[in-house]
Amino acid sequence: MNLEHHYATLGDAFYTHVAIQPLHEQRLVEFNQALATSLSVDIKSPETKALLMGETVLPQGLSMVYAGHQFGGFSPQLGDGRGVLLGEVRGQDGLLYDLHMKGAGLTPYSRRGDGRAVLRSCIREYLASEAMSALSIPSSRALALFDSREAVYRERPEPGAMLLRTANGHIRFGHFEFFFYQGKQAQLDQLVEHCLDYYYPECRQAEQPLVAMLLAVVKRTAQMIAKWQAVGFQHGVMNTDNFSITGETIDYGPYGFMEDFDESWVCNHSDYEGRYAFARQPGVGLWNLNCLMRCFSNHLERDQLVSILQTYEAELQQHYDDLMLAKTGLEKTTDLHVLLPSLFSLLTKEKMDYSVFFRLLAHFRESEFDLLLDEVIDRQALSNWLQQYQAARLSNTLSWSQMSERMLQTNPKFVLRNYLAHSVIQAAEQGDYLPFRRLLNVLTSPFEEHQASDELAQRSPEWGKSLEVSCSS
Ligand code: AMP
Ligand code: MG
Repeated sequence: MNLEHHYATLGDAFYTHVAIQPLHEQRLVEFNQALATSLSVDIKSPETKALLMGETVLPQGLSMVYAGHQFGGFSPQLGDGRGVLLGEVRGQDGLLYDLHMKGAGLTPYSRRGDGRAVLRSCIREYLASEAMSALSIPSSRALALFDSREAVYRERPEPGAMLLRTANGHIRFGHFEFFFYQGKQAQLDQLVEHCLDYYYPECRQAEQPLVAMLLAVVKRTAQMIAKWQAVGFQHGVMNTDNFSITGETIDYGPYGFMEDFDESWVCNHSDYEGRYAFARQPGVGLWNLNCLMRCFSNHLERDQLVSILQTYEAELQQHYDDLMLAKTGLEKTTDLHVLLPSLFSLLTKEKMDYSVFFRLLAHFRESEFDLLLDEVIDRQALSNWLQQYQAARLSNTLSWSQMSERMLQTNPKFVLRNYLAHSVIQAAEQGDYLPFRRLLNVLTSPFEEHQASDELAQRSPEWGKSLEVSCSS
């Protein structure tokens, strides 16, 4: 494996060297061959396996230190409490990818935690990150899953596990906050140079590289959140230590994918105030970016920082509109702005499943109103909406069938529902990974029909809707 160690060159102020501490009877149970190939990582080679199993100690392995605003309050020191960064590898796309092992044991940043991860949370992260990636949402990705016979204690004893994941970067907004609030200007500058070198090299050509980079971070963050809103993804813990400088979705915990449409939905049962409710995500993105901008108040004038932040809203709105045009099969934003609010209030009243509705809309033919009307109680209200919608679609430049084709590539048949994750986790805890693999297979090509797996596209049963997910993982 051609491991590089760029983050490690930053020096002791940025991390502590840590080794992977293997679990009892640890086994490699799943790995992502396509991703491994694209990164030229041979997971099964004896050297790599020994490294990942903690049998060979990698001297450059490290846990990063950072800070972060957690649910609005500032924590001056956090860090990888259970993660080891092994180093970086160069992908076939030319970008650098971190190899990061989660659940690798205690680190100096473990606080009251045990340094471990449970199989349940590793499977949840594996599925979600691969599903997001298949939906074209920048995300960390799962490279390999290890299970074990070691018990890890949460509300109950659970099997311990480790997840090897990749991301273009794991530098968080909180990294900058860590140095800024301690007045460590030299390290802050060093981090800026590092990000410019490895994540935003194109910004070096700009007159003010830092400004160009911050504008790019705002843009990527706005686009990421627009994508979350369009697919109905809720992150659950949008703290600044869970926000990556590269605009990738990272740190999957108590996330959720929207089922019954409800913009006030809160997926994280530990989020008592609903701070990170679905409809609040765009606003929280701005709040987090504001935290990031504050770290550069010694570098740039206030007005300059404000004007960088002001690009966020328009970028998010524009990107969201484009995504929703593709989703609805409409061509004019003016039509979208009339039809979407009325559709959303209808879906809310009907408690309609978000993904099922849009998939049906993609299959909807001009004359087949019943296909959708049978889904609702208030047929008249939906019928009125469909008539307006039909008129807009008929004025498109693309034909109805061309547009429907496109919609089927935009509206997934398969989404990661909580009850599906729950079922495959239960099987995996009994040693049966087949249901996990079947689910992973449809989630990684979610627009295909996969007729033999139709049951994985079904709405959640009532018991599935009341499953609780929280920060404990
Ligand atoms: P999260 O909300 O998952 O992003 O976690 C917040 C912080 O707590 C991070 O710094 C994690 O590394 C740390 N943490 C979470 N779970 C554990 C654990 N089981 N052991 C040690 N640290 C943990
Ligand atoms: Mg985190």
